[in-house]
This record gives sequence, C-alpha cells and structure tokens, in this order.
Amino acid sequence: AAKSQGRGNFQFFSSSMNRATHERLLMENRLSQALEKQEFELYLQPQVAMTDGRIIGAEALLRWHHPELGMISPDRFIPIAEESGLILPLGDWVLRRAAQLLVTWREQGLGHLRLAVNLSARQCRGTSLVPLLDKLLADNGIAAAQLELEITESAAMQDPESSRTLLQALRARGIKVAIDDFGTGYSSLSYLKEFKLDRLKIDRSFVKDIETDPNDAVIVSATIALAHSLGLEVTAEGVETEAQRAFLCSKGCETAQGYLFAKPMPVEQFEAMAAAITA
Ligand code: C2E
Ligand code: MG
Ligand code: MG
Ligand code: MG
Repeated sequence: AAKSQGRGNFQFFSSSMNRATHERLLMENRLSQALEKQEFELYLQPQVAMTDGRIIGAEALLRWHHPELGMISPDRFIPIAEESGLILPLGDWVLRRAAQLLVTWREQGLGHLRLAVNLSARQCRGTSLVPLLDKLLADNGIAAAQLELEITESAAMQDPESSRTLLQALRARGIKVAIDDFGTGYSSLSYLKEFKLDRLKIDRSFVKDIETDPNDAVIVSATIALAHSLGLEVTAEGVETEAQRAFLCSKGCETAQGYLFAKPMPVEQFEAMAAAITA
C-alpha cells in the first residue's frame, strides 16, 4: 500500500520502518538457522534442598551461542521464537536433549536427580507435545517422575481449558508439573486448585527484596502457605543471600535455585558437581 502511493511515500515508509522491526527480522532469520548450525546448548542450574543445600535436580536453561553476537539471553530470543513458531522445533530439541541427559545420568549413578524443562505457551497449546513425551520416555526407558515440566503462570492462563487438559495428560503419565514465575501473571485461585500441579515456583522478583520490603515478605509467606494448603511443594527462584534462604526456610519452602548455591552451568560441570556430592 505504501508503494502504490508513490516513490516518495515508499521511501518515507521504509526509512521509518523502524530499526526494531529490522533487528527483529534479522534475529528471526538467525534463529531459524541456529538449530541446524547447532548453536544451542542446555545449561543446568542446580535445584537444592533449602535445609542443607543438597542437590535434588536441575533446571535446563537454553543458551544460544551466535558466532558473531556471542551468547544471546533466552529473554531475548524465546519471545521471538515463540511468535515466529520456531519455538516448536526448538522446544522439541530441548526435550530430546533432556531425555538424553536423563539416560546418561542413570548410567552415571545420578538417576535420583530430577530434570526440569521449561515449556512455552505455544508448546502447551499444540497437539504434538504429549506424543513426543510418550515416545521419549518409552524409547529411553525414562521414569516419568524424573522429568518435571515448568509452565509459566501466564502461559497456563492464556488458554486455561487446554492447559487443564494438558496437565491432566501429564499427571496421568506421572510427569511432574511446576507453575513457573508464580505471582507475575494473573491466575485465579480456582484454576490453581483445578490444575494438576506438583510444584509452585516463586518468582525471583518477590524473593529479591524479601529482607527489605515487608510487602514482599508477606506475599512470599502467604504464597508458600497457599501452595502447601493445595498440596504443592514450593521452590524459590533467585535466592542470592543467606538471609533470603533463612527466611524462606523458616516459612517451610522446600527447595531453591539461585546464585547463592550455583549459577546455571554447562552440563559437564553440573554432572561433576552432582557426582562429587553423591560419591
Ligand atoms: P525461568 O524459567 O524463570 O528461569 C530462571 C531464570 O532466572 C534463569 O534465567 C536463571 O539463570 C535466572 N536465575 C536463577 N537464579 C538466579 C539468581 O540467583 N539471580 C538472578 N539474577 N537470576 C537467577 P535465564 O537462563 O536467562 O532464562 C530466562 C528465561 O528464559 C527462563 O526463566 C525461561 O522462562 C526462559 N527459558 C530458558 N530456557 C528455556 C527453554 O528451554 N524453553 C522455554 N520455553 N523457555 C526457556
Ligand atoms: Mg523455569
Ligand atoms: Mg521462573
Ligand atoms: Mg522467568
């Protein structure tokens, strides 16, 4: 349409077609080639018991190493992958890689560790997730309970009906489900009760100021109590200080992730760490 209005108009349009749109198309293009070029890697962040810091598992966190741009944060590329649909093949890759890890862990005597994998909204709405999970578990002889899937509160609430169906299917298979970034979306408490969940993850934004902001302290205590009353375990995200850990521990929060314990790290490093403790 801009073009038909004459050359002048078209030039105006294209020069003002903002930098952000151009950047975005460029990123989408790079992203679409990244799987084939094997530029993705899973990092693992230990999940630990709040009381003694014992490693009980890990969360898989996607990393993209671009040859020229370096390491690109998932907060930058996941939204682009989600909107473009690339998240579907990428999400499948993450699940396949996760299944491989669970197989090697069993061989290394680390079969007691649980692996948590993030799901995107689009993966949750699609129909191929459950069949893929069935295939991966069966082909690799993986115990369903070793796998935990993390669904953000906002993804789950985008389409509560299909989320409910998905969560029932996962529950029927014994796959664990965690609700991620809890407190940042708008879930009604009735859905929280209806959804078949195993764990609630308190978002880092509430944990951050737990010591200085009385509101956050109250929100966190109330959330832990709510989760427990619904039969869910609680994991606190982004625990960075001993004071935060002590507070969360005193409120009965079972597990934690955060820089206080360990940052996300390459797989080999995590395995060495877990093996050293287990040995
Ligand atoms: P998330 O699932 O809530 O993951 C936790 C994020 O908090 C990670 O960021 C982790 O590195 C960071 N974190 C953990 N402990 C601390 C801490 O003590 N302090 C601070 N400042 N940060 C901490 P990361 O790895 O950049 O991932 C960001 C988000 O990208 C994830 O948030 C998740 O929503 C998404 N993501 C990552 N991997 C995948 C994936 O495979 N699939 C999908 N769909 N999303 C993913
Ligand atoms: Mg997560
Ligand atoms: Mg989170
Ligand atoms: Mg997050």
